[in-house]
Amino acid sequence: MYQPSTTPRPSLYYRYQVHAPWLPSAHPPQPRHPVVIAGAGPAGLVTALELARHGVASVVLNAELQVSAGSRAIVFTRRTLEILQQVGVAGRLVAAGLPWRCGNSIYRGQQVFRMEAPHDDDDRFGPMLNIQQQFLEDYLLDACAATGLVDLRWGNLLVQVDQRDDHALLTVDTPEGPCTLQADWLVAADGGRSAIRSQLGLKLEGASFESLFVIADIRIDLPYPTERLAFFDPDWNRGNTILMHREPHGIWRVDYQLPPGETPEQALQPDSMRARIDAQLATIGHAGTPWQLDWSSVYSARTLTLPDYVVGRVLFAGDAAHLLPIFGVRGANTAFQDAQALGWQLAAVVRSTAGPSLLANYSAERVGAAREIIDEAGKSTRFMAPPSRGFRLLRDAVLSLSLTQDFVRPLYHWRTSRPHAYTRSALNCAHDDDARFTAGPGHGAPPQNVRLGAEDFLLDHIGAGFHLLVFTSTALPAGVQQVVQAARQRGVPLQVLAIGTAQPVAGADAHLPDADGRVRQRYAVPADGAAYLLRPDQHVCARWLVLDADRLQAALATALPA
Ligand SMILES: Cc1cc2nc3c(=O)[nH]c(=O)nc-3n(C[C@H](O)[C@H](O)[C@H](O)COP(=O)(O)OP(=O)(O)OC[C@H]3O[C@@H](n4cnc5c(N)ncnc54)[C@H](O)[C@@H]3O)c2cc1C
Repeated sequence: MYQPSTTPRPSLYYRYQVHAPWLPSAHPPQPRHPVVIAGAGPAGLVTALELARHGVASVVLNAELQVSAGSRAIVFTRRTLEILQQVGVAGRLVAAGLPWRCGNSIYRGQQVFRMEAPHDDDDRFGPMLNIQQQFLEDYLLDACAATGLVDLRWGNLLVQVDQRDDHALLTVDTPEGPCTLQADWLVAADGGRSAIRSQLGLKLEGASFESLFVIADIRIDLPYPTERLAFFDPDWNRGNTILMHREPHGIWRVDYQLPPGETPEQALQPDSMRARIDAQLATIGHAGTPWQLDWSSVYSARTLTLPDYVVGRVLFAGDAAHLLPIFGVRGANTAFQDAQALGWQLAAVVRSTAGPSLLANYSAERVGAAREIIDEAGKSTRFMAPPSRGFRLLRDAVLSLSLTQDFVRPLYHWRTSRPHAYTRSALNCAHDDDARFTAGPGHGAPPQNVRLGAEDFLLDHIGAGFHLLVFTSTALPAGVQQVVQAARQRGVPLQVLAIGTAQPVAGADAHLPDADGRVRQRYAVPADGAAYLLRPDQHVCARWLVLDADRLQAALATALPA
């Protein structure tokens, strides 16, 4: 009989709520569920929200009775906010978080590199926002409750998965003892130590780095703006790296590398932590400033992924699927992209608008994304924490040259998490005009947002489902309208937006004026009649200089394989 902790976790800034456990005796016998999600972290909750947007109900199991232990992920990217806008929580995050865009690298007390993350007037969200993971999870939980389609079961630990041909049989331990569940599909979003991954005997592929980092959240009053501070080789921690980030509610994260050979237990001794944090505060000129520890943990960088995220009836997402270094804020930010991708593709399979091969595409696209991230994050990690004498020699040469030589400074670039472009996706249309466009988002690219007014952006008008953006002020050809209707009759969610007109357009669900031609310019549209097809995760899967019914039909068939 499983007994999750009922003691609220301690925190200086966040009040943990202990939720009531879900008990089998209080519920009627269980039917088979289309989707069960193991894990109510960022990956599990956003998958549930994406499924709900597509009308698919899910059961979400959470072993714990409380949200994230400690702040964990604190930096969220623009693409994450765009994804979270779709599921209705970006507004709350922006209202509560701290936006930022600059990072500073400091070597032996001298600032050697300052980088500003790109931002233009067409972006609704800034490049980065700091907020603790507990708040994010709260907002996601509220959004799940509002859908009426997410059955969240606190204190339910998934202990066994038995794969059958057409479903998974799940054994779940609860405070009343075990019960069973049947699911057509199980989403394994049970985090970095995924018991489902272990039970299925799956091995992560890639590298683990030896260096350990302490993550300490402290309450302190420091007069610095919200920017990334990276200290290389300071006097108190020679050869090692320290990161500092401001969080809401007067909290700062101090993230410091340990000397080789030190164990996590030694590193987390209160005296050791106090001495090191005091030393770092002295480095920034704040020796003696009072502070209190809120939460600490030890972290090692890993660049690991499963080679396939679909194993029978089990679909992996988030940390259960891959473990990525936090340098470049990759863990949670990648989990959101997994969840968004999985949500719409799984919904299409559940609703039978596509066959199960679409899930193989989910795996191919997201494993590809993880491998790209691993490649990039590996570079940052080798710079932050050189794994061998050779890498250390090179890194140290860059550090000392950077004191006097401008040309080496860009090597400090922190390579922040960015959305993966599904350039070679099987869902991209083979016979469209992608290659004939001279610019604009091409096959597989995430969408290009465009400002339409003071508080009005193109992506604000993109909801759930596929979106056909047609650059026209005249009625859509009858054949195109018929293809759209036929797709909808099959259950495919498809909206048509006419862009560049102040008047309604026959065959379009909505219209956008684009008075200054900005959307047309960003999408590199040369003439009336061009069109883009966006998948439900907003990535481009087809574009045409001139749209016709047959080619639209072909693009939809490619994006939703039978
Ligand atoms: C110490 C630390 C610091 C971090 N700092 C950062 C950072 O600064 N930036 C960043 O981007 N990322 C950071 N991360 C990573 C980030 O927190 C994760 O990438 C993110 O939480 C992944 O989300 P997830 O939903 O995949 O997994 P998790 O958030 O781990 O969620 C897993 C969920 O599954 C539940 N669960 C587990 N097993 C079972 C089971 N058998 N049955 C039912 N439920 C189960 C858990 O209770 C939890 O709700 C950090 C992680 C750690 C551990």
